[in-house]
Amino acid sequence: MELSVSFTFAAAHRLPLHRGRCFNMHGHNYRLVVTVAGEPDPLTGMVMDFADLEGTVERAAVARMRGACLNDFIDTPTAENICAWAWDRLAPAVPGLARLVLYETERYWVTRAAPAAVPGAAGPP
Ligand SMILES: [Zn+2]
Repeated sequence: MELSVSFTFAAAHRLPLHRGRCFNMHGHNYRLVVTVAGEPDPLTGMVMDFADLEGTVERAAVARMRGACLNDFIDTPTAENICAWAWDRLAPAVPGLARLVLYETERYWVTRAAPAAVPGAAGPP
């Protein structure tokens, strides 16, 4: 089962190598959707507590980006590179991290997913 929490934040960026609208400094209202995969705990009925996931993601990645100039800490902050930056911070902090979807606008987004597990390669028999 998959469980997701959505975050929104405004941030500024510019893409100095881009010949388009993102060349000049400007802002976007980004949306980051964080998805974890796992089986619900038989006792709690939860894969993960929504509030715990929300707090971890906020502290590990979103708080740094909210209201920031992304160029200050991400080289060439394209949607792809922002998503990769967030993945690098969240992968060690979020057990079962399965997918990140970063929306730059309602119609433009990128997805980063964990490599598919190879059946039989690991885990319990
Ligand atoms: Zn832009």
